Amino acid sequence: MIANYGFKDGSGDWYVTIDTDKCNGCGKCVEVCPEKILEVGPDEIDIFREEPVAFVKHEERKKIRYHCAPCKPGYGSEPPPCAAACEPRAISHSDGWKACFKDSHQ
Ligand code: SF4
Ligand code: SF4
Repeated sequence: MIANYGFKDGSGDWYVTIDTDKCNGCGKCVEVCPEKILEVGPDEIDIFREEPVAFVKHEERKKIRYHCAPCKPGYGSEPPPCAAACEPRAISHSDGWKACFKDSHQ
């Protein structure tokens, strides 16, 4: 299942996406996230899933645009730490940050 955390507004798409079919609950993304916005726990979308899965903390979902910005392509390391740490490649990000910061960080 594809879980999108974040929001879309007039300035762009600001999502962290986790493919829960690929996520094995290892927690490596949680360890490397500098803003501590990720967590591993019960799957709130698929209540029949028994294995833990990664998600973005509830209180952080409206702040993703700002918290993830320092990690984004053109505004820090590429790929972001969470994606680099995820061996099954379960985490991806929308392009809002790239479009927003490309002019000031080329
Ligand atoms: S690093 Fe990847 S596989 Fe491990 S918990 Fe995070 S999203 Fe899931
Ligand atoms: S982009 Fe950075 S702040 Fe955002 S979830 Fe990934 S590691 Fe955490």
